Order: sequence, then structure tokens, then C-alpha cells
Amino acid sequence: MDFTEALKKLVELQTTDSGLDDLDRVRKGFQKEAAAIEASLAALQARIQDEKKALDELLKARKTCEMEVGALDSKIQKYQGQESEVKSNEQFAALKQEIEKSKEEKSKSEEKVLEILFKEDTQRAELQRLAGELAGAEKQAAQAREGLRQKTADCEKAALEKKAERVKQLAELPPDFAQGYEALRGNGKKIALAQIREDLTCSGCHMSVPPQTLNEIRKNIGIQRCNCGRYLYEKV
Ligand SMILES: [Zn+2]
Repeated sequence: MDFTEALKKLVELQTTDSGLDDLDRVRKGFQKEAAAIEASLAALQARIQDEKKALDELLKARKTCEMEVGALDSKIQKYQGQESEVKSNEQFAALKQEIEKSKEEKSKSEEKVLEILFKEDTQRAELQRLAGELAGAEKQAAQAREGLRQKTADCEKAALEKKAERVKQLAELPPDFAQGYEALRGNGKKIALAQIREDLTCSGCHMSVPPQTLNEIRKNIGIQRCNCGRYLYEKV
């Protein structure tokens, strides 16, 4: 196999591998999308739990106020029962004052109860709205999950095809190139093959290609490697 042919095959292998890398990126993108969907559902569910807690707090607060109203009611009745028993005008006036004070407190507590009832209504409406939102989001999520599952399966199928192609392409290469290429990929160099750019630098590491190397490439003397290890080529 001459060098031009080997280089051409290396470029083809690199194209397949870049395709595989792209598919992997796309698949990871789908995974992220799926995770984002679950996270937003979980956030909505957590929000509903918080709002339910807030409603429980309102119910508790109302219960406390209603108990206050009841207690003040008993107090007022007790004082009213004492009205006929007092001996002096002063005592009577003091009792009247106590009754008035308790009535005021009672009416304040009753107002609070009403206020809380109003807030409960608002809170229940909000919970209902959120339940509707969650139902909608769950329906959308189910569709999105299915779409992503399908797209992921397509990606995996395409990747399998590319992997089979890569095995074939690798087998067609002279073994030393195949090993060199695999070693570069194994070292994390996704682009094992670097085109020489117009400014005569390696497109992999951006260093200038030495004139000597450039000369050898142009004269087609073997396949040259950059100092970064990548196989260098000019336009194929
Ligand atoms: Zn380089």
C-alpha cells in the first residue's frame, strides 16, 4: 500500500471516529435533556409539597384562633354570670371593662379566623392549579421521554454501524498505522490525524510544522507525524 492510499484510509477512519464522537455527544445531550425533564418534574412536586405544608400551617393557625374564640366566649359568659353577684359599682364597672376587653379580643380573633379562611381558599386554588400544571407536565414528560428514548436508540444503532465500519477500516490499514492511530486515540487525542493549516501549523496542537517535515510530506516521503504525535496531512 502506498502512503497516499494509507493516508486516505487513515482519513476515512478518522471521519468514522469523528462521526462516533458526534453520536456520543448527541446521545449525552439526550441524557441531559432527560435528566432536566425529571429535575423539573421533581421541582414541581417539591413545590406542591411545600404548598400543602403551607395549607396545613393555615389550618393549624385557624384551629388556634378558633380555640381562642371559644376560650374568650367562655370567659365572657363567666363574667356576665358574675354581673348579678357584684357588690359595688366599682366592681361592676371593672367587670364591664373586662367583658368589653374580652369581646374586643374575641372579635379580633374572629377576624383572624376569617382572614385565614380566605387564605385557605387562595391556597387550595393554588394547589389545584399546581396539580393541573403537574398533570400537564407529566403528560409532556411522558411524550418527551418516549421521544428521547427513540432518538437514543437511533443514535446507538448508528453508532453500532459506525463501529462495524471502523473495525473494517482499521483492518485495511497497515498494522503500524493502525496501532499508531489507536495509540493516539487511546491517549485522548480525539483527532489523531491533523490537517496542516494554511499558516503551516498542525490543526491538532497549533504548532508550526517544521519545514523539513513539510518537505517530506510534499514529496510524499512516508507519512509524517507532528511533534504532538498526530499524523499530518495536507489536503487529501
Ligand atoms: Zn501537532
